[in-house]
Amino acid sequence: MDDLRKANKHLFDALKPAKRKHGEDKQWMFHIATDSDLFVPIHGANRLALQSYTQWRGFYQLQKLKYRTRLRQRTIYLQPLVYQYQTNRSHTLVNSQELLRLLADFCSAFFLGMNVVVSDLVEVQQKDFTSRVHARTNRLQFLATDIQSSVERTQPRDAYCVAAITNADLYPSPEWNFVLGHASLTTGCGVFSFGREIDDNVVQSDWPKYVWRLFKVMTHEMCHMFGLQHCYYFVCAMNESSSIAEAEQQPLFLCPVCLRKLHKVLKFDVAKRYQLLHDKISDVVSVIKLHEAQEKLGTDRTEDSLRNQQQPCSISSSLKEVPLEHINSEITTNPTTTQENKFNNSLQWLTQCVQSINTFTDKYTHHT
Ligand SMILES: [Zn+2]
Ligand SMILES: [Zn+2]
Repeated sequence: MDDLRKANKHLFDALKPAKRKHGEDKQWMFHIATDSDLFVPIHGANRLALQSYTQWRGFYQLQKLKYRTRLRQRTIYLQPLVYQYQTNRSHTLVNSQELLRLLADFCSAFFLGMNVVVSDLVEVQQKDFTSRVHARTNRLQFLATDIQSSVERTQPRDAYCVAAITNADLYPSPEWNFVLGHASLTTGCGVFSFGREIDDNVVQSDWPKYVWRLFKVMTHEMCHMFGLQHCYYFVCAMNESSSIAEAEQQPLFLCPVCLRKLHKVLKFDVAKRYQLLHDKISDVVSVIKLHEAQEKLGTDRTEDSLRNQQQPCSISSSLKEVPLEHINSEITTNPTTTQENKFNNSLQWLTQCVQSINTFTDKYTHHT
């Protein structure tokens, strides 16, 4: 650990154990970052690119002075925006109520302490915003900033932030090819597209194939709304990515440095948060399995019947499915890992986090 300490002095500076009076949360954050193999440090990162906890705190406090009213709110709005690419198709991923419900549940565990509300779906017409037809794909694209301004105009008063989710392809300005999302920290509004690499023929019932991507991109973008910049400390959900495919290969969860920032705002019980994340991922796995079973049976299914038939997924059964050496795959990531394995690895990883915190808390309580 001393070698690791020397090699990652910046990291240890960012995670210095707090004094007892500052609470135990930061103590175990330091512990899980250094005494466990749950997180993988990035070696040789450019120091100038690092946003330490202290830098983030200074920045966020400044934002709080400027946008005091909004940053005191505790509701995150998810706003589905649908554009019908093919006139006779009425389904896209974004209007699957089941997917939106799972996403909202996951976000409320990820940002524990926030209410997460899914707003009514809004249909987007070509005439509503500035648009163009992309020269290569021949596909309609909307100007992201135009959509974002419209989200800002209709922002609810009690919103901490509004994240519009759309299947529409977006571009940031004429010279750019496309953009995955555009968000403003000042207004707390953003628009995020899942349309770029998803075929227009994808229908609502295909959502299980894209759920990881959706969770990953949404939570990453929302963390930006909490002032978190890209992370170069650890392999982490806040690592930089230049495509959806790259983002998809990154972990779904935050490293201790990023978690400490979010914790400062939301003040959640971290072990409880990991447990809740575990439960929400279990729900997703159950629903995906149910979809697969239904598909095999070739039965007609409705979203209501699916909800009623959901089975809770036990931790032990998930643990058996993945060999133990994959325990850290959530954080190290493997490009060939399937979505199902990613979720199962996440379940194991989250269980390990809860155990690690509990072990540390026990030790801490008994020795002080
Ligand atoms: Zn980012
Ligand atoms: Zn991080």
